[in-house]
Amino acid sequence: MTASNPVPTIALNNDTSIPQLGFGVFKVDPPETERIVTDALEVGYRHIDTAAAYENEGGVGAALKASGIARDELFITTKLANPRQTQASAAFEESLEKLSLDYVDLYLIHWPTPERDTYVQAWKELETIAESGRAKAIGVSNFLVPHLQRLFEETSIVPAVDQIELHPAYQQPDVTSFAHEHGIHIEAWGPLGQGKYDLLELPQITEAAAAHGKTPAQIVIRWHLQRGNIVFPKSNRRERMAENFDVFDFTLTDAELGAITALERGGRVGAHPNELN
Ligand code: NDP
Repeated sequence: MTASNPVPTIALNNDTSIPQLGFGVFKVDPPETERIVTDALEVGYRHIDTAAAYENEGGVGAALKASGIARDELFITTKLANPRQTQASAAFEESLEKLSLDYVDLYLIHWPTPERDTYVQAWKELETIAESGRAKAIGVSNFLVPHLQRLFEETSIVPAVDQIELHPAYQQPDVTSFAHEHGIHIEAWGPLGQGKYDLLELPQITEAAAAHGKTPAQIVIRWHLQRGNIVFPKSNRRERMAENFDVFDFTLTDAELGAITALERGGRVGAHPNELN
């Protein structure tokens, strides 16, 4: 956090650090991506989360380049697409080229896809990429405890993050506590539940919103931040980008945090990591 940038940073397990709040671009249309990421950078976001599978790395790269923002002020994450797990180095080079970058800050295996049984091989290639300095940190996404355990047994570097579905209705306490025990930070994807359930209308959230003069989305983002999650809510709309960024001038009480945490109902809105291929 600096005078001009209110976003706190979190130290990762390899001496790098990550802005706790960023901007995600899942389902941002490729032709719209440059404009949308430009808006996000103008609003103040400096951490962008994309993936090869989103097919919009080119638009992200164009927006970064046009912004003129110094590279060391940006934190850029991209992810290895599932079908490329046996060609991670080549896939990584393609991502860098699309992003017009010499390095990324964080490179992730997108899904474990256990049916393919190639994530260990992919992780070993990511270790080589990390050693080259072209990914400042490496991590995983959608890994459950057995997938993490297998990496610990068969490879050397502990992932810096595990990016998993996480929002008040689905908090994955088993993965979260296992990750924390091993120094792995949790990135919460779908922080607003992807708009797929009535999260923003629940009284525990609307009452906190009224009490703080904030919107329900701001309350949910604040809940994540105070729980220690790294988040990057997505919006195509500039006014919502600004709303989602304006979360550093209030603090939820322990009672409010507890009431929102109690909204857990064990229901995913996305795919099961053992099923997605
Ligand atoms: P989010 O939980 O961020 O929800 C996005 C939805 O919420 C959109 O429909 C958006 O609509 C709406 N929204 C955004 N801001 C507000 C607001 N202030 N008030 C009301 N509605 C709002 O879902 P995502 O799936 O996008 O998750 C965030 C990021 O996580 C992704 O963009 C991606 O980077 C990452 N991710 C990673 C996955 C993985 O497998 N690793 C899987 C899924 C996501 P609108 O755009 O119209 O504003």
